[in-house]
Amino acid sequence: MPVPARKLSRSKGRRRRSHDHMNPVQVGTCEKCRASTMAHHACPTCGFYKGRQVVDHSRKVARLLKKTGHAHPHDEQTKKA
Ligand SMILES: [Zn+2]
Repeated sequence: MPVPARKLSRSKGRRRRSHDHMNPVQVGTCEKCRASTMAHHACPTCGFYKGRQVVDHSRKVARLLKKTGHAHPHDEQTKKA
């Protein structure tokens, strides 16, 4: 069984571990649907980023809802706006 060449000092080990911590993830809210979003990422729920649609979820959702026989959730929102 291999053995370490020399004992690592308390200081040396602690110095190495000083970079082991992780920063908490920054969570923001979508301006459109108020869902939690990652900073600098498009909203995973509605596909909005910086006030405009960047990912078209509507077609995918519409197809899925048509298949299952449910109403589209964005239909009510678009009528109001
Ligand atoms: Zn959103």
